[in-house]
Amino acid sequence: MMLWSDSTHLANFGTAKLWPVYMALGNLSKYVRSLPNSGALHHVAYIPSLPDSFQDDLKTWHSQWNKASHRKDVTTHCRRELMHAVWRFLLDDDFVNAYKYGIVIRCLDGIERRVYPRIFTYSADYPEKVLLATIRDKGLCLCPRCLIPQSKLHLMGQALDLRRRATDVREFFWEKVRHAREWIYQFGKGIKSKYVEDHLKETSSVPTVNAFSERLGQSFNPPQVFPLSRMLVPDFMHEFELGVWKTLFTHIIRVLWAKTPDGSSVLKLNDWFRQVLPFGTDTIRRFTTDTSEMKKLAAHDFEDILQCSIPVFDGLLPDQGENWQLLRLLYRTAEFHAFAKLRCHTDDTIEHLMEVTTAFGKLVRQFKDNICAGCETVELPSEAARRVRRAHTQTAGVATSNQEIPATQGRRPKELNLSTYKFHSLGDYPAYIRMFGPSDGFSTQVGELAHRLVKRLYGLTNKRKVAMQIGKRVERLERKSTAAPANAESREGSTSTTTDTPDDRSFQFSMSESQNHPIDIFNLIKAQRGNPAYKNFLPKLQDHLLGRKLGRAFDGDNHNDFSDEDRNTLHIYGEKIYQVGTCTFYFTTYDNRRDFDVVNPTSRPDVMARSQEDNRREVPFWHARVIGIYHAKVSTTHSDVRPKDRGVERMSFLFVRWLGAEPGYRFGFDKARLPKVGFVPYTDNADNFAFGFLDPSQVLRGCHLIPDFQSERTSELLPYPCAVARQIDSNVNDDWETFYVNIFVDRDMVMRYYGGGIGHLNQGETQGGDEAGDEQAGPSEDEDEGDLEEEPMLSLPAPAVAPTPGSGDEDSDDESDDDPIMEGDDDDDGRYASD
Ligand SMILES: [Zn+2]
Repeated sequence: MMLWSDSTHLANFGTAKLWPVYMALGNLSKYVRSLPNSGALHHVAYIPSLPDSFQDDLKTWHSQWNKASHRKDVTTHCRRELMHAVWRFLLDDDFVNAYKYGIVIRCLDGIERRVYPRIFTYSADYPEKVLLATIRDKGLCLCPRCLIPQSKLHLMGQALDLRRRATDVREFFWEKVRHAREWIYQFGKGIKSKYVEDHLKETSSVPTVNAFSERLGQSFNPPQVFPLSRMLVPDFMHEFELGVWKTLFTHIIRVLWAKTPDGSSVLKLNDWFRQVLPFGTDTIRRFTTDTSEMKKLAAHDFEDILQCSIPVFDGLLPDQGENWQLLRLLYRTAEFHAFAKLRCHTDDTIEHLMEVTTAFGKLVRQFKDNICAGCETVELPSEAARRVRRAHTQTAGVATSNQEIPATQGRRPKELNLSTYKFHSLGDYPAYIRMFGPSDGFSTQVGELAHRLVKRLYGLTNKRKVAMQIGKRVERLERKSTAAPANAESREGSTSTTTDTPDDRSFQFSMSESQNHPIDIFNLIKAQRGNPAYKNFLPKLQDHLLGRKLGRAFDGDNHNDFSDEDRNTLHIYGEKIYQVGTCTFYFTTYDNRRDFDVVNPTSRPDVMARSQEDNRREVPFWHARVIGIYHAKVSTTHSDVRPKDRGVERMSFLFVRWLGAEPGYRFGFDKARLPKVGFVPYTDNADNFAFGFLDPSQVLRGCHLIPDFQSERTSELLPYPCAVARQIDSNVNDDWETFYVNIFVDRDMVMRYYGGGIGHLNQGETQGGDEAGDEQAGPSEDEDEGDLEEEPMLSLPAPAVAPTPGSGDEDSDDESDDDPIMEGDDDDDGRYASD
């Protein structure tokens, strides 16, 4: 059993709240569990809040009710008691009986099995974990999982710290709590009185009996220990994306302000963020507003910022050494983020995550000691404004509008605080992933996503006794879905279409067969005379198509051995090629799912292919900017082409502008540097390959290039005005000299560079040669590869194979990964993000 709980606002206005507890069965696939409409998430309870009459009741008999501190202590205590009373109610005798002796369940396949329910994980944000672990909010030991004191939290990742997590596991202190409760309930001492604190303060315990420890451990004969601390898994979204990374990003901007008080580097930062191209359907969205202000950002936005941060921050710190240190830190941060969020792990990736965690912890501490200590960091203007506004609201009792607030003078000093639970928590990921699987399985996002249903149902209620009404509707929905086998079948049917068949795997791309934009080749060449992009357009195209017809291995079309005679054997029907707007590339992800990238020359133009050069170990991929997507009907009479391949065939090809690896530049995980590429310089030679053609089946997937803003713009790479080569920004006549390849754009991309992704393992076969295959690749094998390349094209007109339903699902998968954060976040942001 995996549990989630999280209180949520039911409507954008008003105070209506619901605090649901959800449960899913860990035996189910996480891909089913995390789908909001799969019905895998059950509503176990709605935790009530203390009634309004509670305070009045207490006032009548509590002698010191007027003391604010007493009032607060008692209310907090009662809230805790309420939470555990609810859980005591849920873990009733029947449940405990099943827990001890098992329960016989008749499963769907008709077989009766004895099932022992076990509580696996409980995902909740920190305030809720505090309640569940029965610890105090701001105590000496902040962590619900271990007893490492607050003064040692910043040492996250050190060998000693990692060892202490295993030895100083938090347990429930039965004796201490029993004594404390005696003082309170028998001798009438205050909850925070010295008698009680003597027992509890040291371990940050509270005088509440933990329902889990009691019902599933202490009440047994003989008593057992319930693994309470293991159940409370870390929470990546709140702790890292909205926690540590948000804090770190904010502080880096504070450092920028401190280093350049005129704000010029912050302006540059915002400007550069705006120039980052979007990627995927919503993997990276366009950064529109001033990113440094962080207005209304959800976890997904912070993820985007992190993934694009390295090129944008490069060069903003004036000191070279500090700049390098910052880039290194950002690299490790993005690396930690990627590996902690992988949806499929191997021993190797977990091992790597551990190393990255240690390296990240060290770099953050160095950043604090070396860079932050050297400058006086103060609040951001927006932070100061928020603080002033809050103070106004509190004193005036009403919210004041922006205009009434004095200009933000007097920004207070702010330091980077690493002694937080969130920072400490990062050290727990490798161990928890080993125990419970990849972090998306127990992510709090699953719970946040489920809130959509209760919010929708809230709209159907009459707003009175809301929990009761919502609960009844949920029950009705669940009954409906189990009572209708037809429904279940159709659902099964739809999932079976998403499971991959071998056919799907070889399906690499699809593009429209539209002939709405025919281009006469000779007219094109005539019209574009003098345009460097179209120089030798026809011979290059002929070489490319003929090479494919001959089944040659793809080598970037560097074969200059075709004679004009050879070329003349190739016929392009009607001398026409047809332009289409987009091409969709399908690929198998590292976690063995299918996904796709849509490439569009005007908005998402960059693609990557496996490198065909010998230095594949250093530069594993080739990159190209697609500037045209075409198809044409082609046949050949060349004698070397096998007769069955000579007939008329629709061939698709991409017209690209090649990028080459930056010479002499080293990159990689060990160096903490992103790869750099730049456009191949154009020269007037016949064999210049700045522009060329690419077989779409060679494309692995789209890629995300971010300008290296430190490199200047230059017109030297292509010293002519050429709109077609610069479709992204057609007003300019120059290019960025180099680009960073964003390997952190998504987890699949990271794993392509890291290697060992399970879904990537057989990539070599379909793409024309992996390491081993290539070394032995003889001429006969080349022919086979040619076959494989051509095949998908023959099946081009098959929309049935085009995994539109499947791809839709992949998409929603991704969404369950990222999108749900948006909704739940409105409240989350406000509540916890500010520490
Ligand atoms: Zn801990």
